[in-house]
Amino acid sequence: MAKIFCVANQKGGVGKTTTTVNLAAGLAQLGQRVLMIDLDPQGNATMGSGVDKRQLELTVYDVLLESASIAEARVSSQKLVDAGCGYDVLGANRELAGAEVELVEVERREKRLRLAIEAVADQYDFVLIDCPPSLSMLTLNGLCCAHGVIVPMQCEYFALEGLTDLVNTIKQVHANLNKELAIIGLLRVMFDPRITLQLQVSEQLKQHFGDKVFNTVIPRNVRLAEAPSYGVPGVVFDPASKGAQAFVTFAGEMIERIKAM
Ligand code: ADP
Ligand code: MG
Repeated sequence: MAKIFCVANQKGGVGKTTTTVNLAAGLAQLGQRVLMIDLDPQGNATMGSGVDKRQLELTVYDVLLESASIAEARVSSQKLVDAGCGYDVLGANRELAGAEVELVEVERREKRLRLAIEAVADQYDFVLIDCPPSLSMLTLNGLCCAHGVIVPMQCEYFALEGLTDLVNTIKQVHANLNKELAIIGLLRVMFDPRITLQLQVSEQLKQHFGDKVFNTVIPRNVRLAEAPSYGVPGVVFDPASKGAQAFVTFAGEMIERIKAM
């Protein structure tokens, strides 16, 4: 049965999508069966996985509104398969922005994704969900089906402050909707060890959160930022780059972590 993880942080531009697609590719490279779900109407994780969001006939929107199953809506990119890093994609595009409003009216609205994943869970080792930069109904759907949340964060001054809202939301979802949910870990991303402040914040994180902080650190690396314009994760775009290697190491760390779950 698949282990399901949300990549969430209500701040934008902190590296959620980069983490989701590169972790997906890294896990696939290590032989894991992966489904990546894009829950952000921007569709960046879809495009960054080599899938053109404008050409999609079915997306996560149709799955949330129960007009399609995941088995019907998932696609994959041949480019990634050829690179030995293939994974399935349940894509998103702008249409998904409407789901927020449409779901308000329906029953068990926060459980829609969970029910859909249950039908395919035995086909995967990992399901990774790229969340939008908000604590919205879409993010709630993600949190309701996850075993754990991966929180990418930059080691900056306000990093800890921003975490409070997310931690509170996760506690509420845990108490009311999903007993299995926990923060599996904080992932330090875009890290630059030459910046003293980043080293300090990194230390503070470890003091506060202990072994909830992943051992792997993702460096700031331009190859990771360049990859999306080629429609592939950095792990595929430049496997020798420091950023790609860090994500493959992180994938290995995730495989170890789920053994203990
Ligand atoms: P989010 O999904 O949280 O909005 P993104 O993953 O889209 O964040 O990242 C924001 C920007 O930072 C993107 O332009 C991305 O390419 C860049 N970026 C992310 N991680 C790194 C990294 N480790 N090194 C350099 N650039 C990065
Ligand atoms: Mg994103």
